[in-house]
Amino acid sequence: MTGASSGIGAATARALAGDGWTVVCAARRADRVEALAAEIGGVASVLDVTDRASVEAFAAQLPDDVSLLVNNAGMALGQEPVAEADLDAWERMYATNVIGATRVTQALLPRLVANRGQIVFMTSTAADGPYEGGAGYCGAKAAERMVAGALRLELVDLPVRIHDVAPGMVRTDEFALNRYGGDAERAAKVYAGVAEPLVADDVAETVRWIASLPDHVDVDRLTVRPRAQAAQHKVSRVFEEE
Ligand code: NAP
Repeated sequence: MTGASSGIGAATARALAGDGWTVVCAARRADRVEALAAEIGGVASVLDVTDRASVEAFAAQLPDDVSLLVNNAGMALGQEPVAEADLDAWERMYATNVIGATRVTQALLPRLVANRGQIVFMTSTAADGPYEGGAGYCGAKAAERMVAGALRLELVDLPVRIHDVAPGMVRTDEFALNRYGGDAERAAKVYAGVAEPLVADDVAETVRWIASLPDHVDVDRLTVRPRAQAAQHKVSRVFEEE
């Protein structure tokens, strides 16, 4: 479980542990993954998916019978129009969401195949198409989706499943805050007036379910949104009259 130190990753680690999985909780923040692993009876691992040596060490730590990889580590950075976008931020998004997920996948793939395993890519509805200011993040998530899709084709003769989970709006503690460089006011506006955005547990439940399916079932893509978000640009927001 990559990106297990907060949000969707932490919730998914809890949900999987509740189903009896021994979860390796991996992320860069050691204190967080250690606390979570202690809570759920899992294993903590400090992992930076953008660092080759870190991924190698992570892979070496995993047991031979590893059978599920959740590529969840990822982030959005900024929402500027293309003309003004911070390309260093784009490089970090691609390094994490695309190259990082692929690097971890490459490292675990032989064992996942040998164990009739499965891989979940946590993409996003941002991968479905562009929105204003979204070119960097939408592009990175779309590229991650292409990795999942190509892998599924390439490995069709082998006993391994590739799933793409694409959440819409999920209110987690850090996602929007990180996107807007710690600007809490701007982050809050993402969810302003939305009756019930998804929460991390909602997405975790989809991964728990996928992981519980018999091994001939592949969930090519699962899109999950709050009821109030009918499409990326169609969000119901209700504000109290002042
Ligand atoms: P979050 O709380 O910010 O979680 C991101 C996780 O990724 C953290 O655990 C972070 O841990 C980890 N991470 C970031 N860079 C990393 C790196 N280089 N190496 C290892 N771990 C790294 O955000 P979230 O909302 O739970 O999002 C989780 C995933 O869902 C992301 O891939 C995101 O793109 C996707 N998603 C989110 C939403 C949403 O609305 N929230 C919607 C659709 C899809 P450390 O900082 O400790 O490393």
